[in-house]
Amino acid sequence: MNIQELITLQRGNKQAQSETTIAYRLAKLEKMRKALKGPWKSRLEQALWSDFNKNAAEVNLTELLPTLDNIKLIKQNLKRWTAPQKVKTPLPLLGSTSYTQAEPKGNTLVIAPWNYPIFLSLHPLCTSFAAGNTVILKPSELTPNTSEALRDLIAEIFTPEECSVVLGGVPESTELLKARFDHIFFTGSTHVGQIVMEAASKHLTPVTLELGGKSPTIVDESANGYEAGKRVAWAKFTNAGQICIAPDHVYVHRSQLDAFRKGVKDAVRRHYGEDPTKHEDFVQIVNPRNFDRLNGILEQSKTEAGILDMGGHADSEARKIAPTMVVDPPKDGAFMKEELFGPLLPVFSFTDIAQPLAEINGREHPLVVYIYAKSRRNIKHIQRNTRAGATAVNMSLLQIANNYLPFGGVGHSGIGKTNGHAGFLEFTNTRSAFYQWGPPINNFIAAPYTEGKRKIINFLIKNLY
Ligand code: NAD
Repeated sequence: MNIQELITLQRGNKQAQSETTIAYRLAKLEKMRKALKGPWKSRLEQALWSDFNKNAAEVNLTELLPTLDNIKLIKQNLKRWTAPQKVKTPLPLLGSTSYTQAEPKGNTLVIAPWNYPIFLSLHPLCTSFAAGNTVILKPSELTPNTSEALRDLIAEIFTPEECSVVLGGVPESTELLKARFDHIFFTGSTHVGQIVMEAASKHLTPVTLELGGKSPTIVDESANGYEAGKRVAWAKFTNAGQICIAPDHVYVHRSQLDAFRKGVKDAVRRHYGEDPTKHEDFVQIVNPRNFDRLNGILEQSKTEAGILDMGGHADSEARKIAPTMVVDPPKDGAFMKEELFGPLLPVFSFTDIAQPLAEINGREHPLVVYIYAKSRRNIKHIQRNTRAGATAVNMSLLQIANNYLPFGGVGHSGIGKTNGHAGFLEFTNTRSAFYQWGPPINNFIAAPYTEGKRKIINFLIKNLY
């Protein structure tokens, strides 16, 4: 079936899909849960190993576990999320009741990136399906084995008119984006997010854009610098830094700099040994193009100011770049041009918090501002003086694992939220319903406006508001 035929098929099924029962949708998600825990687990693990050497433990921890957690949350809450919610009635509307109810949007398109190809495909797909929508998923062409496994898994659980996968890259994505959908959920780079939004605007299609950016970390003078270094290193070098919410660069108060640097180096040695490029748990850079991009930044940085404090080498055959830390490189140098999305960690020392705050505010709003500090006053000050999709304090990355916490960006890092109920709301229209049961107010207050009616109106204004 070609893309147009698939779109036509799902359009024809839109109404029927919206009328499926909660029990039907949950039964499908139960099949998905069983498949991910059973026969499909090893195929997905193998696929990700062949795509970019992501090992099975990490696939389970960072892909399957959050996908299963989302399914669990949907199963526990779908009935409540889809039920009518009564809202209050103001006094002048006595005799009426009002409700809201989440209705499916209809035909939805999910476009996913390669860095967490299972989680970032199945999380929105399951949520959209649970909401009563049809879904076309376009996973990334950069992880072909995983994308093919996802296509086969979804074909086993769903009928094509309810959920289906389109494989391919830019041409296929472009063709899909020309069609009219009722919602587009895109995860990927800010640049492609702009292309998606432009295409969606032709049909006034609402979008969720989960994008990227340069998420900064601040380690202030009240922090435990050593512990901060360990935690930042774990977050930065997991998946070789190919994480949208990885700490992109770090500002460390001068008093904590040595402890921070030691923390980073100790953590890298503990996780990946003396040469991480030889360690099988340190993942590859996804493809030669991204390897060359990162290696280019690394090589250029060597011609610039800054102290190379750790790493600095790459193995092109293994497609691995050593976890690298450079202290005080130039602020307009190679590291600071774009989102790094790799295992390169520039660290800037500071003495006055006003300086990092000004620099963060001089850039586009990031997905996250990470703060390492013990002082509550300092934490509040940094929060109040920056804008971001999220704040995480004294830890990095783990905020995304809380499905009760909405996840998303602001400005160039994204539009809309995902995770749990927030994600469900993206895929539904909150429809308002107003029911008049008793005599309406216009029975008493309508033209001709007699003296008595004027008095009632003035009484309402004077006493109710
Ligand atoms: P990408 O934007 O290059 O690709 C994402 C998807 O868009 C892929 O399926 C791809 O085929 C498609 N695509 C690429 N170019 C296109 C075009 N011109 N027209 C239409 N579709 C196109 O992103 P990526 O390299 O897969 O992922 C890395 C980026 O994603 C980083 O910027 C990262 O920060 C971001 N990201 C964000 C989140 C989040 O939740 N906010 C999560 C993961 C990754």
